[in-house]
Amino acid sequence: MIGCDAGPADAPALGEAAGRLSRAGVEVHLDASGDALAARAGTLIKSPGVPDHAPAVVAARARGLPVLGELELAWRLLPNEFLAVTGTNGKTTTTEWIGHIHREAGAPVAVIGNVGTAASSLIGKLAPEVTVVCEASSFQLEDTEAFAPEVAVLLNLAPDHLDRHGTFEAYVQAKLRIFENQDGGDIAVVSETTPEALSRAGVDQPYWRARRVTFGEGSRATLRVREGRLWWRGQPLLCAKELSLPGAHNRCNAMAAAAACLARGLDFGPVAAGLKSFPGVAHRLEPVATRGGVAYVNDSKATNVQSTLVALEAYAGGVHLIAGGRSKRQDFTPLAPLVGSRCRAVYLIGEAAGELMVALGRIRVPIRQVGDLERAVAAARAAAKPGEVVLLSPACASYDAYRNFEARGDHFRALVEDA
Ligand code: ADP
Repeated sequence: MIGCDAGPADAPALGEAAGRLSRAGVEVHLDASGDALAARAGTLIKSPGVPDHAPAVVAARARGLPVLGELELAWRLLPNEFLAVTGTNGKTTTTEWIGHIHREAGAPVAVIGNVGTAASSLIGKLAPEVTVVCEASSFQLEDTEAFAPEVAVLLNLAPDHLDRHGTFEAYVQAKLRIFENQDGGDIAVVSETTPEALSRAGVDQPYWRARRVTFGEGSRATLRVREGRLWWRGQPLLCAKELSLPGAHNRCNAMAAAAACLARGLDFGPVAAGLKSFPGVAHRLEPVATRGGVAYVNDSKATNVQSTLVALEAYAGGVHLIAGGRSKRQDFTPLAPLVGSRCRAVYLIGEAAGELMVALGRIRVPIRQVGDLERAVAAARAAAKPGEVVLLSPACASYDAYRNFEARGDHFRALVEDA
């Protein structure tokens, strides 16, 4: 076996992984493009971060070698049932929510995220009755060949990652691969808005061999919302306000999770219980604490405008918004109307503070450039009244001041808890 990475040999994480591989008998090449190695390979397994135009991949394809993604490899080597979740937004939340419902139902489950545990790390370690619930990004799906999950969930489709996929159509086609190899015994869970999204992308309706289950607000969805309740095939499941996570987006995630679990035969009771008790995923509208009647919410994962809009929509008003960080050269002006209607005040931090100030300048909400997160939390704490919310939802990347969005969210939590 040969391992190859274009990263520099002195990168600490890479060096450590390379050491482990070498000790396991793998021939490791760092700081190497790998194209010359293709001549000695029978198959190329690529990690989702490696683009298709990487020299090793191009060389492997030129030699006619199979090129497989890591998810495909794991799926081939694990005899377990797979429940896979894709979509533009909400993958991690829905994947974790499905895992939580399985645990609530006492069904054995292993949850695989896009970041963190790699699916292949489970090979040889799982009992056969364990269901693997996995998040599948478009990058991972692009590199599948025979991947056929017993249950496949498509949450939503919006233009994203076009830098790598080229067009919206190519991106959508990659996502649809999740259904491609399913057969009549499998289940496809899709939002009822999928046909509309497909026609927007100029993509033909796929031929669904799997049994199709839909979720959404409309009357024809298998799992739908009506009169404030979620219904499964005409039977009431629970009140929408009992869902453990706020916001219309989380209601979609909950509906998808419930549809997937009910379609594969989990009982109503544990599904409803799991929908009520899911604690959420860290850094995604995560309730951190309530102090003096003020709720502190960490949404550090909101690194773009769209995510911050979704977060603001989850609250009726009274929000003290902390935003800013490293700008991704996006247009912040779409934030203005919702900031105007939901926020009591805005505290701007980081490199993008000036840009945000200009974009939000015209609204009639007090906006202050406070510098950093510590000062933002202090200012928001001083101003917030009982019943209001202090929300970190930056609409920006974190790299101006933090290693990643998790470090930024952890800092927020520490500042709130230390007060
Ligand atoms: P992903 O894994 O697809 O990136 P996450 O579950 O990590 O999704 O959520 C990331 C952010 O995406 C959330 O903080 C929220 O702003 C937004 N989001 C989550 N679910 C949805 C949804 N169903 N529709 C639109 N936006 C969503």
